[in-house]
Amino acid sequence: MAKLTTRSEDYSKWYNELVVKADLAENSGVRGCMVIKPYGYAIWEKMRDEMDRKFKETGHQNAYFPLFIPKSYFEAEEKNAEGFAKECAVVTHYRLKTDPNNPKKLIVDPEAKLEEELIVRPTSEAIIWNTYRGWIQSYRDLPILINQWANVVRWEMRTRLFLRTAEFLWQEGHTAHATKTEAIEETEKMLHVYADFAEQFMAMPVIRGIKTESERFAGADETYCIEALMQDGKALQAGTSHFLGQNFAKAFDVKFTNKEGKIEYAWATSWGTSTRLMGALIMTHSDDFGLVLPPTLAPIQVVIVPIFRSDEQLAEINKVAEYIQNKLKLKGISVKYDNRTENKPGWKFAEYELKGVPIRIAIGPKDLENKSVELARRDNLTKETKALEGLDTYIENLLATIQKDIYLKAEKHRTENTTSVDSYEEFKKVLEEKGGFIYAHWDGTKEEEAQIQEETKATIRCIPLNNTLEEGISMISKKPSKQRVLFAKAY
Ligand code: AMP
Repeated sequence: MAKLTTRSEDYSKWYNELVVKADLAENSGVRGCMVIKPYGYAIWEKMRDEMDRKFKETGHQNAYFPLFIPKSYFEAEEKNAEGFAKECAVVTHYRLKTDPNNPKKLIVDPEAKLEEELIVRPTSEAIIWNTYRGWIQSYRDLPILINQWANVVRWEMRTRLFLRTAEFLWQEGHTAHATKTEAIEETEKMLHVYADFAEQFMAMPVIRGIKTESERFAGADETYCIEALMQDGKALQAGTSHFLGQNFAKAFDVKFTNKEGKIEYAWATSWGTSTRLMGALIMTHSDDFGLVLPPTLAPIQVVIVPIFRSDEQLAEINKVAEYIQNKLKLKGISVKYDNRTENKPGWKFAEYELKGVPIRIAIGPKDLENKSVELARRDNLTKETKALEGLDTYIENLLATIQKDIYLKAEKHRTENTTSVDSYEEFKKVLEEKGGFIYAHWDGTKEEEAQIQEETKATIRCIPLNNTLEEGISMISKKPSKQRVLFAKAY
C-alpha cells in the first residue's frame, strides 16, 4: 500500500488522498458530486442516527418535502432568492426525444418545456413555508417542529470531497412559532444540540457564536453557528441555526390567530448540518497514517488480527478470537475478526490504521500460551499486553478513554492555535506565521470587515456567545468595540 502524503508535505493533498484511500468517498463523473462509499456512509449513518435521536429528544419529527421548488415560490422571499440564485440548478424541460439527425442520441424535446421552471432545492424554506400556510391557522397549530433528511444542490464552483460539494446530504430543521421569543429560544437550543453533538460524538471542540450581517444566511434575521479549527489552522463552519423572523411567513402569507384573537404572522427558524461534518471529522483527528475516529462514530470499534504460522495455530487463535468477540458484542462493542489468509498481519495493521479503527487486538502463539493479547490504540499508536481475563471491561473503558483523549488533543491544538491580538500588524503577522483562530476587536462595520478580508483573506467566523465582554478599540478604524470577535482563514 502506497503511503499517504504527509500533512506537513501538503495538507490538502493528504486530505484528498485519505478520503479516497480510506474508502470514504470518491469523485464521480458528475462535476462537484461525490460517491459516498459504504465505509464513509457507515460513519455518516452513525452521525445521522445520533443527531436524529437528539432532534426527536427535543421534540422534533421528521417529514419530507419535494426536491423541486417552483420558481415563483422561490422568488417569494427576495433575500433568500437573491442569495441562492447564483448557485441554482434549474429544470426547464420534462422530456427527451431521439435526435432526428442521429438515432443514437437524445435531445431535449422543445415541445416539453415546463410552463414554470423548477429549482432543484438549494434549501427548502420556500417549499416548506408554502406548505405551512395550509397547516397554520391558530396558535393551537403552533409550534411546528419538523426536520427533513435530504439532499440539496448548490452549484458550487470550487468543490472538495465532503467539505464543499454541489450535491450534499444534510438535515434541515424548519420550525414555526407563535412568538419571537420562542423562535429565538429554538434557534439557540438547536445550536447547542449541534455543539453538544460535535463535542461529545465527534470529539471536536467548537466555538458557538453569531455570524456578522455579511455572513448571515440569505433570508435570516440572525445566523448562529458552530466553528471548529482544523489541524492546518483553518476554520470550518460545522453547523448553522437561523432565526428567520417573520420573513418567510410574510413572503408566504402564513398568518394565525393568537391567544388574544389577533391575526399575526408566524415566527420561523431553520437549522442545518451536512456531510461537511465528515470533512470536519477527518481534518480534526486524522494523522499521517490515516483516519483517527472517535469510538462513538467508528463503524468497527475493535479489530482482531491473528498472527500465526500454521493452520493449527490459526485454529487455536480462532477460538480465542470468538470468545473475545462474544464478550465484546455483549457489551454492544462492534468488533471485526480478520482471519483472511491472503494478507499478512502487517498489511492488515496498516489497513486498519488507515481506516481509523480505534483498538486493534493482535493474538499470536505467545499470547495463546500466556492467555493474553496485544492491544494497540489507533489514536496515540501505543501498544500494551493485556490478560484475556477482564479484557471486555478493560476495552469498554479504554474506548471511553480514547473518546476523551482525542477531544482533549483537539482542544489542546485549538488552545495552542488561538491568539488574541491588539493591532492589525500583529493580526497579519499571526495569520501569516501561525494561522489559527485570532481574537481581535472590530468596529462592527461591513467596511472594516471587508477590508480585513480583502487584505488578509481572514473572515470573521463569529461573534462568540461566551467570550467575556472586553472593551477595546478596533484594529483599523480605532473605533470602540465591546468584545473581541473570532477571525480565521476558513474552508
Ligand atoms: P446553510 O443552509 O447555508 O446555513 O448551510 C447549512 C449547513 O450546510 C452548514 O453547516 C454548512 O456548513 C453546510 N453546507 C453549506 N454548503 C455546503 C456545501 N456546498 N457542501 C457541504 N456542506 C455545505
